[in-house]
Amino acid sequence: MLLEGKTGLILGIANKRSIAWGIAQAAHREGARLILTYQNERLAENVRELAPEVGDPLLLPCDVERDEQVVALMARIGQEAGGLDFLVHSLAFAPREALDGMYVDTSREAFRAALEISAFSLVALARAALPLMKDRHASIVAMTYLGSERVVPKYNVMGVAKAALEASIRYLANDLGQFGIRVNAISAGPIRTLASSALSGISGMIKETSERAPLRKSTGTDEVGDGALFLLSPLSRGVSGEVLFVDGGYHILGV
Ligand code: NAD
Repeated sequence: MLLEGKTGLILGIANKRSIAWGIAQAAHREGARLILTYQNERLAENVRELAPEVGDPLLLPCDVERDEQVVALMARIGQEAGGLDFLVHSLAFAPREALDGMYVDTSREAFRAALEISAFSLVALARAALPLMKDRHASIVAMTYLGSERVVPKYNVMGVAKAALEASIRYLANDLGQFGIRVNAISAGPIRTLASSALSGISGMIKETSERAPLRKSTGTDEVGDGALFLLSPLSRGVSGEVLFVDGGYHILGV
């Protein structure tokens, strides 16, 4: 029971295909007490249906574009749980039209939305969670993708947002290490989810991984969940500011 006695907040469950759900299942299996968020009332229903499978988690709203919801979320966690041992950031957004055509055509508004929701939100959440997480050997994990460092067709502004997210991981790791908080990311291989279905090439990306990755298989949310367990648990107590690839080894390939 790697997470026995630990309380963790997981943001980003939209449905049972969500990477956040794979992480929630793994954390529950290892004994964590969970707090799950939903972005809006439409997705709340899905989260409510799934929740009993991971114990009796506290369910709270959080749209990261709304500062007051981030503050209210942490205040409520403080009241209900007293503190937080881990936080999982598994959310991102870019307008669909920005995930097609050329990056050079990205609008100011699409750039703002993608960077704010997918990258700045981690900074806002980490700041708001700091009083709950300090001096508990806590861990923060965010989700990223190879498109942050390589050009992946049509990933476009989301690749730029993931680059900002990964840089934030390093700056946050340096800021928060003094409070015993580690900050890391998992770079997952392509997985079919609600968010990734906005990418027209997702089927081809999954096929390519299953045929060419060193492990010759596509990535599963259960594999990402287990990778996250390592980063959330004391097994990784010496690791911070790191990006762990859970992609069957695809990222090591040349052409
Ligand atoms: P998903 O659609 O299941 O999850 C995305 C989540 O983002 C949803 O729960 C959605 O509600 C949330 N979200 C979007 N805007 C939000 C906002 N304003 N406030 C709060 N929540 C908001 O898709 P997923 O693939 O599980 O995505 C989870 C993370 O994994 C994302 O960061 C994504 O970029 C990353 N990732 C996905 C893949 C993949 O191939 N699916 C690969 C690598 C990394």
